[in-house]
Amino acid sequence: MTPVAGSGWDIAVVGAGIAGASVAAELAPFARVVLLEREAQPGYHTTGRSAALFSETYGPPAIRALSRASAPFFRAPPAGFAAGPLLSPRGVLMVGRADQAEALARLAEEVAPHGNGRLLDAAETEAMLPLLRPGYVGGAVFEDGASDIDVHALHQGFLRRFRDCGGTIATGHELLGLSREGAGWRVSTSRGDLRAAILVNAAGAWADEIGRMAGARGVGLVPKRRTAMIVAAPAGVDPGPWPMAVDIDEEFYLKPDAGRLLISPADETPSPPCDAQPEEIDIAICIDRIERAFALSVGRVENKWAGLRSFVADKSPVAGYDADVEGLFWLAGQGGYGIQTSPALGRCAASLVLRKPIPGEIAAQGVTSAALSPARLGATA
Ligand SMILES: Cc1cc2nc3c(=O)[nH]c(=O)nc-3n(C[C@H](O)[C@H](O)[C@H](O)COP(=O)(O)OP(=O)(O)OC[C@H]3O[C@@H](n4cnc5c(N)ncnc54)[C@H](O)[C@@H]3O)c2cc1C
Repeated sequence: MTPVAGSGWDIAVVGAGIAGASVAAELAPFARVVLLEREAQPGYHTTGRSAALFSETYGPPAIRALSRASAPFFRAPPAGFAAGPLLSPRGVLMVGRADQAEALARLAEEVAPHGNGRLLDAAETEAMLPLLRPGYVGGAVFEDGASDIDVHALHQGFLRRFRDCGGTIATGHELLGLSREGAGWRVSTSRGDLRAAILVNAAGAWADEIGRMAGARGVGLVPKRRTAMIVAAPAGVDPGPWPMAVDIDEEFYLKPDAGRLLISPADETPSPPCDAQPEEIDIAICIDRIERAFALSVGRVENKWAGLRSFVADKSPVAGYDADVEGLFWLAGQGGYGIQTSPALGRCAASLVLRKPIPGEIAAQGVTSAALSPARLGATA
């Protein structure tokens, strides 16, 4: 194998979470690519901390377009990509109280043209999710096609594909500095220097820090902490067949998880990039909101964690070359949707790195390079 340090590469991708892994897998057939990851485990940060949902009704329009464009990959991944299916049926109820009826109607109207959301009244919603406290909801938008994602299989599938196409994964390599050298970059890592013509910045919450190392202005990324925890379902009840429930104004969610319940206060607390940890106050808020909406008395919290969902001002992802710094490509700002959008976003990003147009079937869903470009953030970053 080519040593990582001391070598010259066409492309160095920084960050081996789902963003870096997906773009690297798409680039490897066309270039000599090294994937640099600071941690010993590529999924250690946000990628390993998600709620694993695939939903075509969740998030702003650019996210929904990327999710729709990712659906064919999830439903029929390439041969040998994963040992089992990447998706398993779940369904999601975007629930609202009577005073949230307007928001529900708005969402139903927005998703109607794509045929993936149905407005339900209170009785229909309660029948679908009997754990709801009687009288709490006024209705819901139900998305039948929403699914659980096998995030580990997806992430490992991208990494395997990358390696199979000749890519090199370098864990334990922290990027420490960048400088221009000839027509490319001198990339200084904790295990020595290497050279690369192009740097793809897929460093999650740290993407603005990497951008600044390269001399760029940054894209105004704000990492936001989100907390999740696992609690027991009511005694004697199998929550497996229940859909996920998400408050229409995103104040909480609840999702069956291997016989238990994953709950979250859907918090969005700005944070510096770090190894995020749950705070007691967010756990207390979560339990309070969940107990108001559901006939559930939360006893012991069996497991808890937090992760950083990183957003730019318009909450849509960024994929494109920096306008001012040559050879710097941004792949950042996936917010709370980086897993479900990764198949399409990884392909778009790879096409743009190689200066090709966005693939036709992804563009057909309404994804444009202008909407992804960091240049759109010029005024706000
Ligand atoms: C509680 C929670 C629930 C979520 N639920 C969902 C969901 O249901 N569906 C969904 O699609 N998304 C969900 N998300 C969002 C999703 O997890 C993220 O959008 C996605 O994981 C971001 O991936 P990433 O590769 O950009 O970041 P990361 O996984 O954080 O990867 C970035 C990597 O860059 C590395 N890195 C940083 N700096 C350096 C450096 N200097 N040198 C080398 N390496 C470096 C880091 O070590 C890290 O491994 C959720 C997130 C959270 C926190």
